[in-house]
Amino acid sequence: MNDSTADQLLRHPCFNANARHYFGRLHLPVAAGCNIQCGYCDRKYDCPNESRPGVTSQLLTPQEAIDHVEFILKNHPTISVVGIAGPGDAFHNPAVTLEVLARIRAAHPDIILCVSTNGLNLPDYVDYLSRLRVNFVTVTINTLTPAIGTRIYDYISHHGRIVQGPEAVTILTRLQLQAISLLKRKGLRVKVNTVIIPGINDADISLTAARLADYRVDLMNLIPLIPVPGTPLADIPPPSAALVQQLRWQAGKFVPQMTHCVRCRADAVGLLNQNNTLFDLTDTQTKES
Ligand code: SF4
Ligand code: SF4
Repeated sequence: MNDSTADQLLRHPCFNANARHYFGRLHLPVAAGCNIQCGYCDRKYDCPNESRPGVTSQLLTPQEAIDHVEFILKNHPTISVVGIAGPGDAFHNPAVTLEVLARIRAAHPDIILCVSTNGLNLPDYVDYLSRLRVNFVTVTINTLTPAIGTRIYDYISHHGRIVQGPEAVTILTRLQLQAISLLKRKGLRVKVNTVIIPGINDADISLTAARLADYRVDLMNLIPLIPVPGTPLADIPPPSAALVQQLRWQAGKFVPQMTHCVRCRADAVGLLNQNNTLFDLTDTQTKES
């Protein structure tokens, strides 16, 4: 970990549980589309009251995102982190993500930059992220076992080819682990999100954690499944609180566990315990002006 990352860790509300009381995050919904299909994801379903990853009231262009950043940072001084976390995958269209991150970095040398991805395309961009001092990266890894992954992922789109079945999971997990290895070599902090899908990957999660420990993953975030109507995994009930606790305890033997995740929308902004979206706070600008 470099000095800059160590200092930023004190102000990151997700990577540092203590910081969440004082520092907030701003998610920019600029990442449209995705290069894989998870069985629990439907980005078309949006409701203003809904709070879960993949949901946003609106997609932003890079220029709109920059305008929002300037307004929010000026008016909400608790924001320490600007991140891209959907609504699709940040590296499905890497040009947009990298343009936004580079422009924010140029204007705000001290802001913490953060990005969240499924990792499929990530290895190609690790050098650039490191140069931009995007010191915090989250990779969603639901399993490293192909037979389980085939029950979670419908397909991946790799080098213009749709791949399904065990081959798809093998490619995805190889690139996820390769990306993490490169990120750690560059000194970045890496969090892995794992969606707990009862009856599918719950018995496999401690094995995943053990392998992630070999890659020096800094933090693991076990996220209870939110069944979304119309998706292939809609009928699976979410894990009980007891199961979540048990899995965190088991996985925590290998990788430190995040226990304060609030499963934010792709346009969330503010302290983690506030339910604001970017567009709520920007409406304030319109009403006040
Ligand atoms: Fe949805 Fe994220 Fe999975 Fe893509 S990687 S299908 S955006 S949950
Ligand atoms: Fe942090 Fe969890 Fe929200 Fe991501 S979804 S910004 S990890 S609290």
